[in-house]
Amino acid sequence: MLKSSKYIFIILGVALGLFLTFVQIKGEGDIAKIVFFDIGQGDAILIVTPDNTRILIDGGPGNYLINELGSHLSFYDRHIDIMILTHAHDDHVSGLNEVLNRYKVDLVLFPGFIDYNAESYIEWLRIIEEKGVPLQSTTVGDVYTFTNSSLEILYPFEAYTGQKIKDVNDTSVVAKYCYIDICTLLTGDATTEVEEEILHLGLDIQSDILKSAHHGSQYSNSENWLFGVNPSTVIIQSGLDNRFNHPHLRIIKRLGRMGIRMLRNDELGEIILKTNGYNYWVE
Ligand SMILES: [Zn+2]
Repeated sequence: MLKSSKYIFIILGVALGLFLTFVQIKGEGDIAKIVFFDIGQGDAILIVTPDNTRILIDGGPGNYLINELGSHLSFYDRHIDIMILTHAHDDHVSGLNEVLNRYKVDLVLFPGFIDYNAESYIEWLRIIEEKGVPLQSTTVGDVYTFTNSSLEILYPFEAYTGQKIKDVNDTSVVAKYCYIDICTLLTGDATTEVEEEILHLGLDIQSDILKSAHHGSQYSNSENWLFGVNPSTVIIQSGLDNRFNHPHLRIIKRLGRMGIRMLRNDELGEIILKTNGYNYWVE
């Protein structure tokens, strides 16, 4: 009798351990997590929604992302629900290639095929085709919904496939992720020209958190745009001592004048924001 109750305790203990491990793997319940990776001069952002959907936006330059991603998604859980390439420049696409090689990706979104003959972009398209990953151009009005949260596309207004491109930066997918009351606006490298177009259309851009367009360039992040978005925090994905001098001093001063908190990857390393849908905080 004594012996069998001992076994029951052991079995219960093991079951409890497994249950706790499962809870840990499933994510953080009611919390959405947004990771702005420290991958040098470039963008790479991971959103993990409260229902554990993984949205990866851009991959940064080189091949740094794969290791950083591994510290957030365990080795036996290599799955990305949605990958978004905002535009075809190296500092946004390069790191995605190894992710496509090593992770199961369900869906890839991009602004459409453009005539841009850069090695990483061509390779990105090649891997997607080889692996048969569904690839879709995404445009304003597309909304991807998850439990209590959603991702809404604000730009481009039409797919860029077949269009003549003046500036690759201006093909950038602009998207707004909202979890209940807290919204984050993601802008790729869109310039002020795109900012003006979006403002002109009167879309709801108000967001608590803004990922600064183009690494804090002075040709993006206009005063009108910042007033429209009205963020309390701006994230700048700039690399340490980058050759473009991003973020530009004019933008740093503008944010200061407007009382907007600025968080920079080149100063802070990886930046993790969490939200319960009502408040958000930096981890
Ligand atoms: Zn860039």
